[in-house]
Amino acid sequence: MSRPALIVLVGLMLVAPAAGRPLDDRREPSRERAFVSGQLIVGFKDGVSLAQQSRALGRYSGKVRRRFGRIDGVLASLPPARVQQARRALERDPRVEYVEPNFLLRTDSHGDPGDPAFHNLWGLHNFGQQVAGVAGMPDADIDALEAWQVSQGSPSVVVGVIDSGVDVGHPDLASQIWINPGENCAGCRSNGVDDDGNGYVDDWRGWDFADGDNDPSDDNGHGTHVAGTIGAAGNNGVGITGVAWNVRLMPLKFIGADRTGTAADAISAILYASSKGAQVTNNSYGGDGFSEAMLDAIRSADSAGSLFVAAAGNSFTDTDEEPNYPSSYDAPNVISVAASDAFDHRAWFSNYGRTSVDVAAPGMNVYSTWPGGSYRFEDGTSMAAPQVAGAAALARSAFPGASDVGLKALLLRSADPVGALSDAVRTGGRLNVNTAVRCADQARVWLDSPAPGFEVRAGDPLPIRLIATRCAEATGVSAHVEVNDLPIELTARGDGLYTGSYTPPAGAALTVVAGAEAAGGADTQSVSGMAVQHQPIVPGGDPVTVTTTSPGENALLSFTGTASRRIALQVSGVTVGTSTCCSMRVSFISPSGSEWLPPVPFGRNGGFIDTRTLPWDGEYRILVDPQGSDVGSLTLTLYDVPPDVSGSISPGGPPATAMRARCPARTPFSPSAGWPGSGSA
Ligand code: CA
Ligand code: CA
Ligand code: CA
Repeated sequence: MSRPALIVLVGLMLVAPAAGRPLDDRREPSRERAFVSGQLIVGFKDGVSLAQQSRALGRYSGKVRRRFGRIDGVLASLPPARVQQARRALERDPRVEYVEPNFLLRTDSHGDPGDPAFHNLWGLHNFGQQVAGVAGMPDADIDALEAWQVSQGSPSVVVGVIDSGVDVGHPDLASQIWINPGENCAGCRSNGVDDDGNGYVDDWRGWDFADGDNDPSDDNGHGTHVAGTIGAAGNNGVGITGVAWNVRLMPLKFIGADRTGTAADAISAILYASSKGAQVTNNSYGGDGFSEAMLDAIRSADSAGSLFVAAAGNSFTDTDEEPNYPSSYDAPNVISVAASDAFDHRAWFSNYGRTSVDVAAPGMNVYSTWPGGSYRFEDGTSMAAPQVAGAAALARSAFPGASDVGLKALLLRSADPVGALSDAVRTGGRLNVNTAVRCADQARVWLDSPAPGFEVRAGDPLPIRLIATRCAEATGVSAHVEVNDLPIELTARGDGLYTGSYTPPAGAALTVVAGAEAAGGADTQSVSGMAVQHQPIVPGGDPVTVTTTSPGENALLSFTGTASRRIALQVSGVTVGTSTCCSMRVSFISPSGSEWLPPVPFGRNGGFIDTRTLPWDGEYRILVDPQGSDVGSLTLTLYDVPPDVSGSISPGGPPATAMRARCPARTPFSPSAGWPGSGSA
């Protein structure tokens, strides 16, 4: 902690405008424009008498409220309507050295660190400054400036940078690089011996898994950029600052100059990080291939207490539907991070997902370190994840007893809700590290599973996983969960993670409420979902009648489909609701669990869903969702639609006959009733 440095900086802010030049807001890029109305601070040149000073101000009805004798300045009060006129005139007055507003200063904010490019870091502190040609929205940031009043990090916190390596000699990073104590005895760094017996020879500052050597230097740039955002040295008079001013960055290179790496190398890096005590890893890479081994490595990291922060990916994709890995792995130590911009909107390229992406963080025009001692702007969820990893490092230094899942609960429960992100990420918001580090013995509960909108078959167990902590620590907190007011028995892992399950006996709306209590305050979180009846239906087989008996209850029918098979659905015998229109919705769900056909409204007259071609192999489901509090029954007939019949006919030629090769079973061909086969002749 270097709190005195901050105090000095606040002092500098007062003095800084007195630079002997006209005060112009447009030339004050690194300062918030909050000031006292009807006041100016005016500095006079040497030799200007007190009487002359009073006369200069008196022309604008200004009065001296206070004199700053040693700096030859005054605090003047003026009629607010005359302040601008007075300011412009005084700037031209040859007796006046400077004129400036009486800026508002707060003890818990507005202390810029002494890093010359700090004003570029809108994600840490956004006051609407121009960054890369964009003036953002004030306070669309993670409140790092305020958080540093509480914690600036600690060299005992290690963050693994699993990436393309790190420029370990960069002036803003060299002091932050982790040193492996097991390879740091005299001569051990280069003795060709695996002194710590971890399988890596002379791995004194991380490892290059791509090339299999002990030089994790960066020949791409990506990892160096990520490292700077997590923990470039703060307040060192050089370049930028990381979210954490003090931290140890463990360079784990597995991506080469071509920006690609292998899952195997990533897995090795993940295992290395947690075995060497990294409390956090940053993982700004991904793909769409699911790897059980990588999931196991992530679970192993969880066992070792290592938080896994992952970029959600840049494919502009809903990862609830199309997963991105590693960010979509379902493990309690994974935080998936989307990118936000300087207006608190989701960055256009960022993946999103109401259940699979947790939180957004700044990821547009992020200025950070680059190999060769330089800096540059980059965009990406790759740039957003390290903001969260850095925040985790700050929180870990503020709460030394924090577990990995505890950090997750704390960070996610500290997010600022943002309207534009409400449908993009699970928290509906953007990281706020200040809220996290200012937690004071308060309970923080996070329902890791199930996710909002979950659906479970009646009779199947619903797994429940929650994190309940005091700030980020597992001690001094009690946890409980109820499903529809019924208490659920929980098993504690000991680090803040609790598991249990509930088996709904019938289809019904379900509300899962998790609660936690600690000395500083309680926390609750709830998610809603649905238990659904489940029964099979066969294309071309018997009609199935479903009945709902309690309001909110849905019904689910499933069938096995193959790609390119054609189906149609008839709805009849409807007793749900009283209206002739729209008392019930029927939708199809794909084998991956996403909506394939959007809900079609039906009323008492029933109707058809026309022929559709199944796009995938697997188990499809038909969801019957009565609207409002309607209950009742209906009959569904799923048709197996045969291929269209083709023939040829020529103008002026002979008559042509097109006939079905066969009739589908139990399907009366009745054009007047609207046979669903759109291709029927
Ligand atoms: Ca070794
Ligand atoms: Ca050695
Ligand atoms: Ca710096």
